[in-house]
Order: sequence, then C-alpha cells, then structure tokens
Amino acid sequence: MAILNILEYPDPRLRKRAEPVERVDDAIRRLVGDMLETMYAAPGIGLAATQVDVHQRVLVADVSPDRNTPVALINPEILERDGSEITEEGCLSVPGVFDKVERANHIRARALDLRGQAIEIEAEGLLAVCIQHEIDHLDGKLFVDYLSELKRQRIRKRVEKEQKIRSAEGATPTRSATPVI
Ligand code: ZN
Repeated sequence: MAILNILEYPDPRLRKRAEPVERVDDAIRRLVGDMLETMYAAPGIGLAATQVDVHQRVLVADVSPDRNTPVALINPEILERDGSEITEEGCLSVPGVFDKVERANHIRARALDLRGQAIEIEAEGLLAVCIQHEIDHLDGKLFVDYLSELKRQRIRKRVEKEQKIRSAEGATPTRSATPVI
C-alpha cells in the first residue's frame, strides 16, 4: 500500500467529475487500500478518489472512534435523504478551514462492494454527512461551495497561509477537534 498525494483547493483537478467504475478488479482494490492508508495517515474520516487525482467513483470512510471500521463504496448513489443537520466540516483538500454545512442526517445509498456486488447501506449522523461530502467530491464539488463568495475568498487566503506554514521546516498543519472529511 502507499500514501497518495492529496490535491488541495483551489486545484482545478478537484473540479473534475469522476467516471463510474466499470469493473471492480485488483487495481480498484489496490486503490481502495491506498486511499484508506492515506485517509488514516492524514488523519481524516473520509476520502474520495478525486482528492488523490483518480477520477473514478470510489470513496472510503471510517467514522469509528477506534478507527477500525473502514467503509469502501464504489459507484455510490444516494437513494433517499431525510432530516437535516448542521455540522462543522473540514476537508483534507481545504486544510485549516472549518465551517458549518447543512446536509441530510439520514441517507440510504447503494453502491458496489470490493467484490463488485451491489450493496445497500443506511447511514445517519456523521457517516451520512461524510458519505454526502465524499459524493460531492466525486461530482467535483467542495464543502466551501456551500459558503458565501466572501468566505471562499478568505478561505483561499487561509489555505495559502497553511501551505506556507507547512513548507516551513518542522511545522505541522493546524489541527482541530472537528472531523476532517
Ligand atoms: Zn473533503
């Protein structure tokens, strides 16, 4: 397995719409393994293939406190959304930025598993938020798109500052208790 490079806002490659996976083969399973390793190392609770510059509809997530319940969804599709919840979100592709986003708090989705079999999952709370956030990535959308233009301008400056801090020797990026999706 390998840790992959995560694209950062405003990289235009984050705007590409991912293509459906045609066949779940060893290459896809290897991608999922690498994405999980990258997500755990970051650390984050979710990662979409778009964020590692692979434009196929694959996402991984793990919202468990012990970080031992990985979820991998291939060609995920939301069938039903219910309720709403405002969560403070962060994103591995928008380092150091956190803001409130409103999403459904319960979803039902279908996808393929690692054997290429169709599965249906129900998710609520943080996992539901995470899956919606990752599917947005696969559609070329970022959580900052839900915010005002003024906020986005500020965020662009903030991200540039974060990138400078991290390029300085020995510095680490800003950490927060907010989950980074
Ligand atoms: Zn994200």
